[in-house]
Amino acid sequence: MTEDFISLQSIRKSYGPVVAVDNVDLQIAQGTFFSLLGPSGCGKTTLLSLLGGLDVPTSGKIFIDGADVTTTPSYRRPTNMVFQSYAIFPHLDISQNVAYGLRRMGLSRQEITQRVGRMLELVRLDGFGDRKPDQISGGQAQRVALARALVMQPKVLLLDEPLSALDKRLRQSMQIELRAIQREVGITFVFVTHDQEEALTLSDRIAVMARGQVLQCSSPAELYDHPVSYEVADFVGEMNFLPAVVQSSREGETRVSIPSLGEHTLTGAHPRYRKGDAVRVAVRPENIDLAAANGSPSFRIADRAYFGSRVHFILNGDGTPITAALHSAAARKLDSLCAGDAVSVSFDSETAIILPA
Ligand code: ADP
Ligand code: MG
Repeated sequence: MTEDFISLQSIRKSYGPVVAVDNVDLQIAQGTFFSLLGPSGCGKTTLLSLLGGLDVPTSGKIFIDGADVTTTPSYRRPTNMVFQSYAIFPHLDISQNVAYGLRRMGLSRQEITQRVGRMLELVRLDGFGDRKPDQISGGQAQRVALARALVMQPKVLLLDEPLSALDKRLRQSMQIELRAIQREVGITFVFVTHDQEEALTLSDRIAVMARGQVLQCSSPAELYDHPVSYEVADFVGEMNFLPAVVQSSREGETRVSIPSLGEHTLTGAHPRYRKGDAVRVAVRPENIDLAAANGSPSFRIADRAYFGSRVHFILNGDGTPITAALHSAAARKLDSLCAGDAVSVSFDSETAIILPA
């Protein structure tokens, strides 16, 4: 496995005054499910188009499998693309749709039939080959688009928000299937999404983008547990940001004072702060613990919402509201408490992250 199977070096793409991709460096290892995650307009589609050769960077270089493909046209790259609007041909049946690219390559009828059959099996559409596109569901149509791209045996499959047109349930089951298919074929997937949950579920690695730049590139767990900035922490998952003041700080260990929550020592990689610096302490809702008030800090229940296995409590104190997500068993112990009742709030310092204010 090569770690830099795909290598983007100082990639920039501007459209007139608009800088769509701004000095991006990325390495993507062979066989990974890699996601580009970020809000609409951050440059994801542009970056994917540059990888697929639908567009040429203003500056920088792109290597795939050791070859400089920066200016190589799309049809000569080892890439294939699946779009959000899976334009499958309405007048061709499912098999003919999947066979389309192979026919153009001039393969024998027998080889085409074999490869199409294997692909339809892979995307679990065996038996659907004779149907027309208007006789299948949206999820099945997206699988046809996937089969049509994979049948060409690309080294890299580029997917631009392929599931975003599907309803939530279907999207979730397609996510699981897509992941399983990627594992089975072992092809490198570069997957674009604006949905952080989707990226976390599917990916081996995620590059978080904003304003054409990559803010962080890491594994889903690393991204969730150790976001490198406020912007990343705010975008990925739910997060409480507690304003705090630095009491003392040395390399990798800072003591802070958080109004209503007392003093805490925070560890983990972070820069050294100065006494008196204003910072934000980021704590995930599931890392906040609640108990019936015992005289200590003053928070009140503003609201609570049930999410099946979890219950979310919204708490008001002096400052910004805090969200706590409790397992239903832990939440049950607080059943007698109503909106307006006082609770004491605590969190495990080890799970908290210190970020500049
Ligand atoms: P995303 O896919 O993350 O939503 P895009 O890559 O489509 O973002 O767009 C990034 C930025 O580049 C946006 O500001 C968009 O308006 C601009 N942009 C994209 N393509 C073009 C184009 N062909 N001409 C001009 N501006 C473009
Ligand atoms: Mg896009």
